[in-house]
Amino acid sequence: MSVLNAAFTSKQILEKLSRLGITNRFDLLLHLPLRYEDETHLYPISDAPGGKAVQVEGQIIHNEVLSKPRRQLVFQVADGSGVLFVRLFNFYGSQRKAYTVGKRVRLLGEIRQGFYGVEMIHPKCRMVRKGDPLAESLTPVYPATVGLSQQTIRGLLEQLLGDYENKELFADTLPDSILAHYQLTGFKDSMMLLHKPPPCVSADLLQARTHPAWRRIKFDELLAQQLSMRLHYRQRRSRNAPELMAKNKLTKALLASLNFGLTNAQKKTLAEVSQDLVSPHPMQRLLQGDVGSGKTIVAALAALQVIENGYQVAIMAPTEILAEQHYRKLSAWLEPLGLSIAWLFGRQKKKQRSAALADIAAGKAMLAVGTHALFQEQVEFDRLGLTIIDEQHRFGVHQRLALSQKGKKNGFVPHQLMMSATPIPRTLSMSYYADLDVSVIDELPPGRTPVITKLIAESRRHEIIMRIRNVCHAGKQVYWVCPLIEESETLQLKTAMETYETLCQALSDLKIGLVHGRLQAQEKSAVMRLFQEGEIQLLVATTVIEVGVDVPNASLMVIEHAERMGLSQLHQLRGRIGRGTNAGICILMYQEPLSEIARTRLKIIFEHADGFEIARQDLNLRGPGEFLGVRQSGVPMLRFTDLDKDFDLLEAAQSVADEFLSKHPHLAQQHLQRWLGEKSEYLRV
Ligand code: ADP
Ligand code: MG
Repeated sequence: MSVLNAAFTSKQILEKLSRLGITNRFDLLLHLPLRYEDETHLYPISDAPGGKAVQVEGQIIHNEVLSKPRRQLVFQVADGSGVLFVRLFNFYGSQRKAYTVGKRVRLLGEIRQGFYGVEMIHPKCRMVRKGDPLAESLTPVYPATVGLSQQTIRGLLEQLLGDYENKELFADTLPDSILAHYQLTGFKDSMMLLHKPPPCVSADLLQARTHPAWRRIKFDELLAQQLSMRLHYRQRRSRNAPELMAKNKLTKALLASLNFGLTNAQKKTLAEVSQDLVSPHPMQRLLQGDVGSGKTIVAALAALQVIENGYQVAIMAPTEILAEQHYRKLSAWLEPLGLSIAWLFGRQKKKQRSAALADIAAGKAMLAVGTHALFQEQVEFDRLGLTIIDEQHRFGVHQRLALSQKGKKNGFVPHQLMMSATPIPRTLSMSYYADLDVSVIDELPPGRTPVITKLIAESRRHEIIMRIRNVCHAGKQVYWVCPLIEESETLQLKTAMETYETLCQALSDLKIGLVHGRLQAQEKSAVMRLFQEGEIQLLVATTVIEVGVDVPNASLMVIEHAERMGLSQLHQLRGRIGRGTNAGICILMYQEPLSEIARTRLKIIFEHADGFEIARQDLNLRGPGEFLGVRQSGVPMLRFTDLDKDFDLLEAAQSVADEFLSKHPHLAQQHLQRWLGEKSEYLRV
């Protein structure tokens, strides 16, 4: 705050500025206009173009207050070329008195054709004298807040920009070589231009933020992000992790016991992970792969490489259902190899839990699988070498850190493998995720037939029910996903129960089960087991089955009120079927009328099967903020850059970051301080 000193502005204003996120001079300088008004030019009324704001000037030749069709103040302005009607629907008595015949006014607004001739509605309106000078630069319009007017903000910036002596504020942090190579304009010039653009500058380029001055600012923003990512990366490389050679004993045994071979994509990603584990620095790798691409076996093989070296592995999943499924699958794969696996979750029986805790602490269990329970205080590992986080975006930075800390007592930072079926579009992985290494499983196991997606209106519910019966009689299984009710979990539960009951009545010849978030862990897993074993034919479920559940014989999924769900949720749900070799069908049942956004989402999910494409479109719809979810906390967001439109700048910033850091460490420091301040110190794990 001290930088915006008291002489510069008052305490109340400081307080309001901080509401706009402005706490120092640089923040203020970066408070860039939303748009501009052109008051540098006067148009003759008869010649003024429509479709954009224009400025005209003339004398009031008539005024009156009309009461029909709406109460309004109307006055006519003449400039010798023509006459313009001005209408004010909300007006003060003072305005009525001011805008009298004979007064000269300057108006800024959009001209349109009215009933009696050309008119402006609620223009910006000022009294002037003949010959009063016009503005010399475009008038910036800033983001404002209550109690902090455009006028005040403009005044503050005028002062700031007038302070030419302030070397630190306007210093260029980029060396000439970079400026020249990417044809970037100088920092100070760019700032001056954006705040006070001369009339010759194209308002369109400014508006579209494609003007060179804008590009310079965006480049700076992106570069700051890249620099902080590189620093985090380097910091991580300076820490120690156990070196875990690939001994290929347990891994070979597991591979030999599988009834399938790895896909090329699985082999490639496994090799990348395996190589990281050998390095003496903590791995931080994100393993991406669409639902059903087979991430679990890659994780299991990575775990074995760690275990072969005498270190333990923790696998964490966001829901009990998913954690239990991992537990069972991994037990089936690893217990025959003589390994013991512990399993931890929130509402576990005390005795069971203490046994698991003891096994983990003693190093008897080489693998611990669990939910959030894994990073709680009581959990102590003997020698933790690797943490694997499934559906990583469901966990916060601090949760991952808490788990990772459990390896500290050996003086090491454990390796970390994160997994996600929500693909991160390239623009995001190059920006917000640039400090991670990424492996992508870009092919599905062979023999899968793509899921057929159908959009069916709620009114045809009975047909769908008939279809379920046929599918079940043919020996296949079905999921029925109940509507999502975000506002109320209780209501959601009630709806699920009712759906279950009506389906039981309509399909009394089928074995039907219900699973929802309020069930006890044992009840939940009992239902899931029955479904897995085929004892339940139709599983009615809330979105608890969203992630990772694997029942290959399920070939039909009905999603009720699909229009309420987000794209990634729909994609994940749909990924639960078509896991076996039979063609899966996913019926998206929707209720009309559809909102614009719901229609767009359903169209995207209907047209696309590729998770990456869906994620890309989702990013377009929602913007990166929501997309980043928990990762966002603590990571400064890009304010000016549009990653899609400014992709070339992103590439440029990425390619210079490393060299900039090593060749110009002092400038790099200055650049980071300027753009991120203390935010650059945010914890990253
Ligand atoms: P996800 O990537 O969604 O976590 P999973 O690891 O659950 O996918 O794998 C989905 C299914 O595919 C599982 O039943 C798994 O055993 C099977 N699977 C994995 N890899 C292969 C492969 N290479 N060939 C055949 N089936 C595979
Ligand atoms: Mg999975």
